[in-house]
Amino acid sequence: MKIKAQLSMSFNLEKCIGCNTCTVACKNVWTNRKGTEYMWWNNVETKPGIGYPKQWEKQDLWKGGWVKDGDKLKLRYGSKAYMLSNLFYNPHTPEMKDYYGKNDVYSFNYKDLHASESSKQQPVARPKSMVTGKEDVSIDWGVNWEDNAGGAHITGKQDINFKDMNEGEIDATLKFRDVFYFYLPRICNHCVNPGCVSACPSGAAYKREEDGIVLIDQDRCRNWRYCISSCPYKKVYYNWTSGKMEKCILCYPRIESGLPPVCFHSCVGKIRSFGVIFYDMDRIKEAALADDENLVEEQRKVILDPFDSKVIEEAKKEGISDDWIDAAQRSPVYKLAKKWELALPLHPEFRTMPSLFYIPPLAPILTSAGKNSPSTEDIFDMEKPSTGPLLSLDELDKFRVPLKYLANMFGAGNEEVVKKSLLRQLAIRHYQRSIRVDKKPDPKVLDKVGLSEKDAQEIVRALSHAFLNERFVVPTKKSERENIDPYTERGFAGFDHMTPWSPMKR
Ligand code: SF4
Ligand code: SF4
Repeated sequence: MKIKAQLSMSFNLEKCIGCNTCTVACKNVWTNRKGTEYMWWNNVETKPGIGYPKQWEKQDLWKGGWVKDGDKLKLRYGSKAYMLSNLFYNPHTPEMKDYYGKNDVYSFNYKDLHASESSKQQPVARPKSMVTGKEDVSIDWGVNWEDNAGGAHITGKQDINFKDMNEGEIDATLKFRDVFYFYLPRICNHCVNPGCVSACPSGAAYKREEDGIVLIDQDRCRNWRYCISSCPYKKVYYNWTSGKMEKCILCYPRIESGLPPVCFHSCVGKIRSFGVIFYDMDRIKEAALADDENLVEEQRKVILDPFDSKVIEEAKKEGISDDWIDAAQRSPVYKLAKKWELALPLHPEFRTMPSLFYIPPLAPILTSAGKNSPSTEDIFDMEKPSTGPLLSLDELDKFRVPLKYLANMFGAGNEEVVKKSLLRQLAIRHYQRSIRVDKKPDPKVLDKVGLSEKDAQEIVRALSHAFLNERFVVPTKKSERENIDPYTERGFAGFDHMTPWSPMKR
């Protein structure tokens, strides 16, 4: 057992309202500079849809992530010889048309809205290129193009998560846009087995020893761009001014001073939880090589129980301090992803082992199912289809985005892991309803999904009422290099404009 600590985040998709406050907060703090106009380290997509850049999930096209080759993993991109042959033209890199359509990245002349003279017509903020400043751009794609399923009737069918579903099912699901779609906030997954790091010939992309944050050393980056291709989530970007790659840094300067990442801090829905997980390095290869249907389970096994005395002992041997062990024991992400099995990795079949986890959305079955709430017995009776307003799991499929779709997104096709998360969420709703409405707690429903009343109370607390200090749990006193001079030095993968560390912030 070789233990590493990893900072990790979870997203409760049931609660994301797609407001993009996280996106704007991140943009203002990190990518509000020349060369970064088109970059959105945090973006929020509407699903079904093809996202940003277009079709980022389609690895036949972009060659991101890993593939199994017998008992080995290899980068989908290809061999070193293939990489070298593409030294001056990398055919698997998204271009501006994939991020922003036919034109340059654009913004709008917002000042026209404020400064226009009085007239009969409403003033208009015309689009303009952020590169040339010209106003001759026509807009046909952008970071939030499919917002609220706006383009689902055109692009929806190309969503690869419809894999293995027939035309009829896809058409029926796309009709859901009239009543149902969901949001997918995305940042770099700070993967445990990152494709970007393995593909980098310069050693510029690296994973921090102490907390697993994946960074790109701006001094060492030589602009090969293989990290862009090999990241299956397309979360590395090329800065066209500096000629370097950039990506989400998980706001490490903020974390080191005890503050959450800005996307987390600004989240209106409070959908995010943040904490430490311990994982076993010695089992990474085995887990990443698992068959598709076992990938989620195997990744869970790699996450270690921070209360286990053997794990604690090994962690100490690895130099992990008591405050990190304490943080791992209080980690909300550990509980959501491992203990309660509610949160799942995004596209585990890419085999990068993401450190971020998503609770799949349950909505809107209760409101669609009928006027009355389904009964405890019928909702979990898999054998007995319900009648009238009641709802069984079989019917759950008919009222929502199909399990198959969610399983393709969060379970490498394994419906069982998604089903378990959804059933547990449903059971908790029923349990809460029995307390609030019937005034008589009904733990039977929890038994059926393998949860105790204590679990249910803790889950409700974690997902609904938790204070910031329960949702954001990290040890605060840490730095990348212990001997760093706080007056003169910077984190070595930071950006030039960043303020030198101030002892006040530590
Ligand atoms: S999601 Fe982040 S860590 Fe994972 S491969 Fe992409 S850039 Fe690297
Ligand atoms: S701020 Fe929170 S609720 Fe709003 S889009 Fe971002 S993740 Fe979703």
